[in-house]
Amino acid sequence: MSVKITMVGTGYVGLVSGACFADLGHDVICVDKDERKIRMLLEGKMPIYEPGLDELVHRNVDAGRLRFSTDVAASVKDREAVFIAVGTPTENGSDRADLKYVYAAAGEIAQAANGFTVVVTKSTVPVGTNAQVFDISQKNVASGARIAVASNPEFLREGAAINDFLEPDRIVVGVEDDEAKAVMRRIYAPLLLHGNVPLLITGIQTAELIKYAANAFLAVKISFIDEMANLCEAVGGNVEEVARGIGLDKRIGPSFLNTGPGWGGSCFPKDTRALLATANDAGVPSRIVTSAVDANSARKIAMVDRIAKACGGELRGKRIAVLGLTFKGQTDDMRESTSLVVLPELLRRGARLTAYDPSNPHEAQHYLPEVQMVKTAEDAAEGADALVVLTDWMVFKTYDLKELSSVMASPNMIDLRNLFDEAEATAGGFVKYSSLGR
Ligand code: NAD
Repeated sequence: MSVKITMVGTGYVGLVSGACFADLGHDVICVDKDERKIRMLLEGKMPIYEPGLDELVHRNVDAGRLRFSTDVAASVKDREAVFIAVGTPTENGSDRADLKYVYAAAGEIAQAANGFTVVVTKSTVPVGTNAQVFDISQKNVASGARIAVASNPEFLREGAAINDFLEPDRIVVGVEDDEAKAVMRRIYAPLLLHGNVPLLITGIQTAELIKYAANAFLAVKISFIDEMANLCEAVGGNVEEVARGIGLDKRIGPSFLNTGPGWGGSCFPKDTRALLATANDAGVPSRIVTSAVDANSARKIAMVDRIAKACGGELRGKRIAVLGLTFKGQTDDMRESTSLVVLPELLRRGARLTAYDPSNPHEAQHYLPEVQMVKTAEDAAEGADALVVLTDWMVFKTYDLKELSSVMASPNMIDLRNLFDEAEATAGGFVKYSSLGR
């Protein structure tokens, strides 16, 4: 039986989850305070770039299962489950997660809810947050209504979000109330029915911790292979073969073993910081996660040194073309992208920059006012002394390298995603090519 669901927060997670819940047959309202986002959705336009989202949203809107609103109070009435999917950025002046949006949403939901409602936290939140959400709910809930809470962290990756949501490795639900547990089971029943998806019902604190532990572990895994790439360069070896050699070991697994210019994005930086803050507050600091965070910061600056070296040691006056600005390919998300460290440092050292990103992220110019943003990769390459591949956009692999190299002042590629190889680059007219760990 379908469940009446409201998503409070219609960003990357709220919109994708809401559209996927609707596709599973549930009745969904996605609500957001951001009028621009909701207006776009009502006009049939997507506020974010995510492969397959447009079609999914239209199909479910047409079927009457998915609606959009800016009115939180009206959208949480007569709903069985209200998900909180608002942002949890780092708090100003500390490493902790800023929970003001979560708590504000919890208060609004409680005041407007009627009947029995499960308030489900999908936002990534530190241990203890759901207990606070429960307290806020009890203080604000109208008489005659009842609210239970559940923690349901989300593991989708931008760029593969729909598939990740509909075919997850596991679903984690932290819930202690039996009626709420039954609602959560009904929500995920279609996924459990057709696939072999494990549903982990845990205590609330455990569910909260699983999300941070997962993200911190993945960040450590990337930083580890980045260090192995350095070692390969220093002593001889090919990091891709090392990654394959260790990844085939089932205890290690093949994913998150691609070396790169340092991890960034909307989750790993803020979630590792928040985990470290929680661990420090609890008096059990994590040396491993601390080291990964430090290694990652150093790596971004090391990438600038590498670009300088590939340009003959001096960046002053060099024209550098940058391909990719988002934190990874297949998304338009710029939050804490590695480009936001590497590009300002290149500028500081005197380089002139032209950049192209296939998603044309609308905040790029705001974050990087001194970078000339252009509409094609050829425009970026025109007259450049070096071409830096910074983001793993799949479309870059389809480019005709000859066209790019032929318009450059000096055909020199610094491939920080190992998207190409020496032979391809040489065949494509690049006289110099450098990559990571091979
Ligand atoms: P986002 O910034 O894209 O979306 C959050 C939305 O919430 C915004 O549109 C904002 O306007 C809205 N909002 C804030 N307060 C509101 C309120 N009171 N009522 C209605 N709307 C409100 O953020 P996101 O990337 O979707 O992330 C949301 C949460 O999910 C975060 O905790 C994040 O860590 C977690 N998460 C994100 C990803 C990801 O890949 N982006 C993956 C897993 C988990």
